[in-house]
Amino acid sequence: MGDHILSASTAIILVEPSHPGNIGAVARAMGNMGATDLRLVNPANPLHPEAIDRATRAESILRQARTFENLETAIADLERVYGTTARERARHDRVIALPELMEEWPTESGKVGLVFGRESSGLTNQELDLCSRLMRIPTFGKVSSLNLSHAVMVSLYEIQRLQTPIRQDIKSSDPLADVDAIQGLLRHLKESIQRTGFLRPHQETEIMERFSNFFAKANPTALEIRMWRGVFHRMDLKLEGLHENSSSETTSMVDSAQESQADDQI
Ligand code: SAH
Repeated sequence: MGDHILSASTAIILVEPSHPGNIGAVARAMGNMGATDLRLVNPANPLHPEAIDRATRAESILRQARTFENLETAIADLERVYGTTARERARHDRVIALPELMEEWPTESGKVGLVFGRESSGLTNQELDLCSRLMRIPTFGKVSSLNLSHAVMVSLYEIQRLQTPIRQDIKSSDPLADVDAIQGLLRHLKESIQRTGFLRPHQETEIMERFSNFFAKANPTALEIRMWRGVFHRMDLKLEGLHENSSSETTSMVDSAQESQADDQI
């Protein structure tokens, strides 16, 4: 993660929030995602017990929140300001979907603001005009309007996701498998399952293609591939034993065992 956290350089501005509980829930969402700059335009009491209750451990964000008389003064120091709307056709052409906004989200340092409207009526046209862009979170059900704190949560999550690698689990000590390793596994898999009788000659190409797609989608690490090689190697040995006991059939077991050099090291 870089030096500055994108959520931390994003100010959340709530215009006339009328429910203290919502303000508290917004503070909590900010606390979850690493944002701290909460600005309130003519709000209900942000220190109402219900607000504090909903904020849980993000109470400090509520206490540090600044209050303004109008939107213009609340955003005066910000470099870029984006408005949000629940309405699909609000100011038509200026509304873009959240994923589109993320494509142009400023990742260089600098103060950015996200403005959220009143629970009852959203933002006025005049307020929308103060924003350089309007964003809508796409919805898929009959209800297009999100709860204020849900809208904040989803937006901050997307902003922070720009910065968080999706596969956090992969450390440099466990690099992704290269093509060679995956092809080696597929060859080994093919040989092993041929012997089990699972792979019938007429289906061979199709089934191996499906396995190949499967491993491509899995994006496996080198270690994971070695683990699978170990599994197939063990299966080979067992099958070899079975064959030895039941018949004199010879197999190319030795080849595949040689191919899986690292098997027993994991
Ligand atoms: N009845 C209001 C709904 C306001 S909901 C109206 O018609 O505008 C309160 C605020 O939550 C909105 O002003 C907006 O800031 C945010 N919000 C709610 N749903 C949203 C959505 N789908 N996309 C983006 N913001 C949304």
